[in-house]
Formats: sequence, C-alpha cells, structure tokens
Amino acid sequence: SLAAAWRAVVADPTPFVTGIAEPAEKSADAASLLSRRDAVFADVQEHYFADPPVFVRGWREHLVDADGRVYLDTLNNVTSVGHAHPRLVAAVARQWSLLNTNSRFHYPAVVEFSERLAALLPESLDTVFLVNSGSEAVDLALRLAQAWTGRPDLLAVQEAYHGWTYLSDAVSTSVADNPAALETRPPFIHTVPAPNPFRGAHRGNKARRYADEAVAEVHRLAEEGTPVAGFIAEALFGNGGGIALPDGYLAAVYDAVRAYGGLAIADEVQVGYGRLGEWFWGFEQQGVVPDVVTVAKSMGSGHPLGAVVTTRAVAERYRTGGYFFSSAGGSPVSSVVGTTVLDILRDEDLQGNARDTGAYLKMRLQELAERHPLIGAVHGFGLYLGPEFVRDRETWEPATAETAAICDRLRDLGVVAQPTGDHQNILKIKPPMCFSRDSADALVAALDRVLTTGW
Ligand code: PLP
Repeated sequence: SLAAAWRAVVADPTPFVTGIAEPAEKSADAASLLSRRDAVFADVQEHYFADPPVFVRGWREHLVDADGRVYLDTLNNVTSVGHAHPRLVAAVARQWSLLNTNSRFHYPAVVEFSERLAALLPESLDTVFLVNSGSEAVDLALRLAQAWTGRPDLLAVQEAYHGWTYLSDAVSTSVADNPAALETRPPFIHTVPAPNPFRGAHRGNKARRYADEAVAEVHRLAEEGTPVAGFIAEALFGNGGGIALPDGYLAAVYDAVRAYGGLAIADEVQVGYGRLGEWFWGFEQQGVVPDVVTVAKSMGSGHPLGAVVTTRAVAERYRTGGYFFSSAGGSPVSSVVGTTVLDILRDEDLQGNARDTGAYLKMRLQELAERHPLIGAVHGFGLYLGPEFVRDRETWEPATAETAAICDRLRDLGVVAQPTGDHQNILKIKPPMCFSRDSADALVAALDRVLTTGW
C-alpha cells in the first residue's frame, strides 16, 4: 500500500548521504518561506496546489518537505539517477576540490566526458559542444543549421517545446496562442501541425498523412525562395504528453529537408538518454540518423549540463562563421557530473529499469483506464508516460480543470504530479530512472483512489 511504501522510505536509513545534511525534520519553516516567495520569479507549479509544498531534500524518487513528509516524485526527469545519489555527490565534491574553471583550456574531465557522450551516438556524430541547458543546446543547434546553409529559415512541429531562449522559444509553438510570443517571433520560423492522432483536424487520420503534409511544406518553402536551413523535432512529444511521431515521419521529412541542403535536428533533451529504454529511442526507432542532436536534462541529473553533438563538418563551418564560448558550459565539474551519471546509469542498469518498470506502470495505468473513463489513453513508453484525461472519449474534450484538481489531490496523498500538453490534461509521468515497482504501485494506488473517491 501507499502507506507501507512511505514507511519503508522513512525507515531506510541509507538514503541520506551522511556528512552532507541530516534528514529533514522541520528543517525550514514552510509558512515563513512561502510568505517570502515574492522574490522568486519562476514557473513554480503552484497553481495545481491549494497549499504548495516546500521541499528541503530528496532521495532516489522521493522528496521530503519542510515538515518531514515524504512524497513520490513522478515528474523529475532532470534528476535521472535519483535524488542525492551518493556516488554523484562524492564525484562532484572531489572535482570541486581539484579544479573547476571556465572552458578556455583542455581538462581531462572534459575530454573524457565528450568522448563518452559521442560514443553513445551514431558514428558520424562525433563532435560535442558542451553547454549549460537544453535551451542553449537547441539555440546552438538551430544556429549551426543557419551557419551550415547560410540561410535563416527553420521548420518546427507545432505543440513542441524546445526551450526558453529567444530562438528555442521561437520554435516552441505550443505557446502559439500567446499574442506577445507571436508578435516577436522571427519571420523565418515556420511550423507544421502536430502529428497528434488524438486531437484536432487530424484525429483518426492515417499516419502517413502527417509526414506528407510536412514534406509538402518543405517543398513549398523552397519554391517560395525560403528553403529550410534546419528542421527540429522530438520523436516523442515530451511536453505534448508522450505522443510518439508516426512511423516513417522523420525519414520522410529529413529526406526532403536534406534535398535542399538543410540539416535534420533531433531534440533529445526531454525524452533521450535512456528513459525510453534506449539511449536515443526517438530517432533510433524512426530508423534515421540526424545531423545534429541536442541533449540535456537527464545527462546532468539536475546539474546544468547540455550538449550539441554533430558532425565534424557542421561544427567546423560554425567555427569559421561564429564566435562560441560558454563560460561554465563544459566545465570540469559539469563534465565529471556527465561521466558519473553515465557510470551510474550503466552500473545500476537504469535504462533496463526504465524499460521494465515503465512497461509495468503503463500496463497498470491501462488497467486503471478500463475502470475510469476519465483516462482516455495512456501515451508514452518506458518512464515517460502520459495518461490523458478527457471528459468524453468520443469528442476527446480535454478534462483540464479535473487534471489540475487531480494533481492537487495526489499531492495530499503524497504524490507530486504535474499536467502537461497544450490542454494541460495529460499527467506528465517522468520520474527518476531508478523508479521502483513499489513506487509504480504506490502511484497507481493513489491515482485509483483519487479517481474513485473524487477530486
Ligand atoms: N527541448 C525539450 C524537448 C525540452 O523539453 C526542454 C525543456 O523542457 C528544452 C529543450 C529546454 O531545456 P532547458 O529547460 O534545460 O533549457
């Protein structure tokens, strides 16, 4: 049961790394902290919670609030190896004690991590730029395409989210309904509709139609004299709730873009790095090799670390055309984080766990859907799952208010969850990759209870 799972967490003394901090027992006064929160301007998910939690520590897939309550963290794909991993803590402390500085010289840690990262990708992608975040990685990837072609035009898929810097935000048209964003969007950004078979004009359409539509747009732009320099897409829509691209989509669009000399960019920031059971499940299962891949989030397990991996030729073109320097991107400490995360993922077989526990959790959520009509579908794979809540399975009317209320109730039961998607009606389940079966059971039990007793 959920209560038993919590008791096990609290009883287990191993989670907290000794010597770093003591277990949380009223370690902060939540009320006084909340009263001072105006100084913080961040997209804190407060609107889902009547009484927002203040977290003071974490362990594996658990968070502890200022009152010592333990929660299940279902939405943290940043902390891939789990909160407060002792091996990561020790490696970071060691590197800080040796050296951390800017990226102006060669350091062993940086060379080693760059090699290890490139080795995960297809052979042609052998050159690594290290940066601090996914947004930076996307920004750079798009500019690599512009430098490669000498042209500005970029193509993206609607409803995707690629970041919050100017260029990465401009290709994130899930905010297309925001008039301010539309007004400042550069004219060289073009989009194609989301290949979402569940909603909108394309509901029920055959998969192939989506690719045809995108390919036609690539040709149309070229005929108008604005051929695409770069096409960016996620193979599985992260913020879209885990909806996968139809088979063959990327192969068809990549071919069309490359026919005009443009580059194919795979954004693996959110769903890459093993969470779906393979390192880069997205483009691998589509059977394509991109020209540029962006990685972040899971790669640093919570530390600011992002990367662009590309071919030597694309990187060299940028070198001759632009100035590049990221003060802290690719620092020795960031690189040690990257290497240690890779070691932990390998030694603890966290990809295998994501595959197996993810399949188990998806099966259990699908069982829930049989009993609770509010769950219209369970999207995603591995440990990136998205139960979508709809008021009516025929019309697919999004259950947006219900989803927010469900998150609030889940929180009362000790589960931290968050909605996603353009209609905010999909639960974003992307826990640390060490998520256990017991945690999967606890999550399903809590959701079952909320759906049974009301929200
Ligand atoms: N790309 C994708 C697919 C993302 O989901 C995100 C963040 O959610 C980003 C890029 C931006 O990454 P960051 O938040 O590290 O800047």
